[in-house]
Amino acid sequence: MNVNLRERKSDTLTRCSVCTSLREIMRSGDSEDLRNKSKKDLEAHYSYISQQRIIMETLSKQSRDPDSDVLVILSDSMSNKYSKLPILLSRPKNISDAIRVPMSLTTFQFALQNGTHMFTNFDYVLHQTLYKHDGSFTFSLLLDALTKAKELPSTLVLIMDSARPNKCFTMFGCLGLLLSKVTTLQRVFVLFPQVGHTHLSVDSHFGTVSSHLKETDVYDPKGEDNNKKLLKQYCSELSETLKMIPSVFDVVSDPTIFDFSRLNEEVNKTPGLCSTNQIVISRAADGNDSDGFNIYISSAPSISSSILFETSSKEKATKLFKVTISCLNTFIIAIQDTFDPLKFFPTFQIRSTDQVRKAVDNLLTVGGSMFSPLNVDNFDQSMSQYGKNVRKMQLRHKSIISAFGQIVTIINRKARKTQRPLHSTTDNEHMTIVNHLKRRGYGVGHLPKQPKFD
Ligand SMILES: [Zn+2]
Repeated sequence: MNVNLRERKSDTLTRCSVCTSLREIMRSGDSEDLRNKSKKDLEAHYSYISQQRIIMETLSKQSRDPDSDVLVILSDSMSNKYSKLPILLSRPKNISDAIRVPMSLTTFQFALQNGTHMFTNFDYVLHQTLYKHDGSFTFSLLLDALTKAKELPSTLVLIMDSARPNKCFTMFGCLGLLLSKVTTLQRVFVLFPQVGHTHLSVDSHFGTVSSHLKETDVYDPKGEDNNKKLLKQYCSELSETLKMIPSVFDVVSDPTIFDFSRLNEEVNKTPGLCSTNQIVISRAADGNDSDGFNIYISSAPSISSSILFETSSKEKATKLFKVTISCLNTFIIAIQDTFDPLKFFPTFQIRSTDQVRKAVDNLLTVGGSMFSPLNVDNFDQSMSQYGKNVRKMQLRHKSIISAFGQIVTIINRKARKTQRPLHSTTDNEHMTIVNHLKRRGYGVGHLPKQPKFD
């Protein structure tokens, strides 16, 4: 009997090119050999994908383990299909999709237990076009999320998709800057799962968010400082609606977005770096920082060679920031850092309010009496409060240097997660402890025998 399998509906998710092309060859390859080979390749690919998932899950488990000196943060942005304002159970005809105001929702998900939830979610809601979504934007949100962390590990693992705002030299420069300014941090792993196979826990968070948004009418964005007690059924504000989702730990609508783009010029542009799926940015392994800040970057083609297997040390690391090489004489070559990250301070990202203002005005005009004066006021605040906050900060701290410095200070004051580095207990050390206990007569179990090969 022939079973007709219906094609999956096309969606907006980017497909994995490996899967797509191998399946295509399996279907219509020229020879049987070729088709069989693709089948084998596809199986190998699936096993790689499975390995990738296990690595990310294991790292997340380590992140929840108080004895493991690692924190895993996953990040992604939700398709704004679900977060355009207003979000209404039944939308009147005059509020067409085109005139709804797009909001961006970016989640930073800490792999830390939060009540019954396996992840602690920090959601950032901003007008979609207010800021350029680039490396500076991603890193500014990461900085804000880090100020909310309870404690810091020496190893930070970031898991993000390969979109440009995540995988770019500005972002790598920013992470180098973070390492140079935050003393607890020793290294940052950035893992980019295979495109088309990024179905991570963040996706299920977005699933929860969008199903909550489908249950309620949301009229306006409304930010932070809302002390009103609202009942769920009357809730008409995006931030407040999100806050009511049990798995959401915090919603931020006014993060300070800095401009770090100048760092792009200071980073050594190693060719091919952006086509790899694992980046490691670390301080010098020997801890010798005498000649300025030794921040290194290395990469691996896949995430399989992860910290779990400790193969990163074999990777060739290069200096993250540019260096000058000068010949003092025939025998002595001096290598000097040309860039001192400690002296670097970002500027504020310039907001483009005009476009947002136009979109909001248009919506309010078309919507008319549908929006209450309070809704209108909340829309106004959502556009101006970022500016106000930055201005407040400038007044309070006199300059941007102190605005950024204050964030760094907050992060630097975090307690250390554990004194024990991630891999301090290697197999050998562990065996020494086991043998010591054995000699003292403690039952420590049996070791598996070495397998024999004939
Ligand atoms: Zn695939």
